[in-house]
Amino acid sequence: MSYMNFIGGDWVPASSGATFENRNPADQGDLIGLFPDGGEADVAAAVETVSNAWPAWAAKGPEARADVLYKAADIISSRIDSIAAELTREEGKTLTEARNETSRIAANFRFYAGEALRLKGESFPMPEGQIALTLRSPVGVVAVITPWNFPLSMAARKIAPALAAGNGVIFKPSEMTPLMGQRLVEVLLDAGLPKGLIALIHGRGPTVGKAITSTPGIDALTFTGSYAVGMQIAQALTTDTRCQLEMGGKNATIVLQDADLDRAAAIIQRGAFGLTGQACTGTSRVLVARKHYDALIEKLTGVAEGITIGAGTREGVNMGPLATEAQLDKVKAYLGIATQEGGRITTGGLPETSADLSNGFFVRPTVIADVPTDSRLLRDEIFAPVVAVRAIEDVEEAIEIADDTEYGLAVSVVSNDMSSVLKIAQKTQHGVVKVNSPTTGVALNAPFGGFKHSSNQSAKEQGGANVMDFYSRIKAVYLGG
Ligand code: NAD
Repeated sequence: MSYMNFIGGDWVPASSGATFENRNPADQGDLIGLFPDGGEADVAAAVETVSNAWPAWAAKGPEARADVLYKAADIISSRIDSIAAELTREEGKTLTEARNETSRIAANFRFYAGEALRLKGESFPMPEGQIALTLRSPVGVVAVITPWNFPLSMAARKIAPALAAGNGVIFKPSEMTPLMGQRLVEVLLDAGLPKGLIALIHGRGPTVGKAITSTPGIDALTFTGSYAVGMQIAQALTTDTRCQLEMGGKNATIVLQDADLDRAAAIIQRGAFGLTGQACTGTSRVLVARKHYDALIEKLTGVAEGITIGAGTREGVNMGPLATEAQLDKVKAYLGIATQEGGRITTGGLPETSADLSNGFFVRPTVIADVPTDSRLLRDEIFAPVVAVRAIEDVEEAIEIADDTEYGLAVSVVSNDMSSVLKIAQKTQHGVVKVNSPTTGVALNAPFGGFKHSSNQSAKEQGGANVMDFYSRIKAVYLGG
């Protein structure tokens, strides 16, 4: 099956005519499709058509915009089975995980449809006869660049508020998950989105992505992906383009003295091995009170060994493959580092080859104990179902090790000792702190974001209703005087 870009209201090939293949990560023999390999000319055409289209969308007013977003949500809800099956085939997550992501984006469209209706300005008291007001307008052309790990939900959490605020969108999905980009745009068009208002450009980061950062006329760029690419984007943009960067994490679950270890193991299982460990908030370190160290390692090892890996479409499978070959290579490299540094792999690593697994990017859920303090396993984002376990002496040491990474996205604590929990929540340099739940899983309506290399904005600007400000221009207007 061959797919197209969507520019200026038409499905068109890349201007160069080039295409790229996309294959199933559970079975490289399964060709998903051929997608246009876009470039600079496609981005330039998209900027022109979206620039022309957004003022009419903005002029329609909030109710008409909300109406389209509510319809999009309903269409997604009616297509959950088909979209989720394709998501599993394209990205690898299990069908249950894919259904969760798909229904989450329906919720996302509903949430931001509501925000379209709630958009407002403020008024400020002045001396009698005068008043200051804020006027809100769309930013204009918003570029959306997304990763492969949540190909629907990362895109929806940007496209929905951008459209709700009255903007037009240029959407570049990850080249690893182009089909999900295609399906999302189809939903929006079926919901009645004006055709020129959204452009879909498939292609690679160093070509389409880079062209987006260098083509004039893009008013805002919202990116989710790695820190390395986020920095390239930040350096390439001029100050005329406002920029939101959501990047990686090196997240830790801290298990304190009073913790119930079965509960801790279940929490870590979800955070570390759910979604094949490929969530920005995935648990990749466990910092456990020394007295529980051996017992928790044993429990985690048992939990990991109880997980069935395989194609996410197969009955009884709890963990799908890694999404890309590059991910698999990265895991192999870190398993090597673990061994060189004296870490003890208690379970996991690469699976024995079998007919079911030999054509995909599979890794077993992996637990690594006895990791030295200066190990890269405790600092680098691996983005895989690999968890490194360290003993801690007290809460202060837990905070120190949790924060000893360039990232600052999510920390979770397993404890009912409220004074320790509060100390961690107040001191840690992570934007999300969860208590007695996994590092993964955040609410649609709450702030979301990280510190340090994890993001370039505060959590308030990146999640929930406050993101509407990123997609709006605010003017202060003084009347009277
Ligand atoms: P990536 O940075 O490799 O790619 C992300 C997107 O950027 C892709 O669409 C890619 O084509 C594009 N891109 C690549 N080079 C570019 C360039 N020079 N200019 C512009 N665009 C370019 O990330 P990935 O491997 O797709 O995703 C995994 C990363 O995403 C992890 O680091 C993960 O933590 C992060 N992530 C963060 C969050 C969050 O909310 N903080 C959520 C999900 C994923």
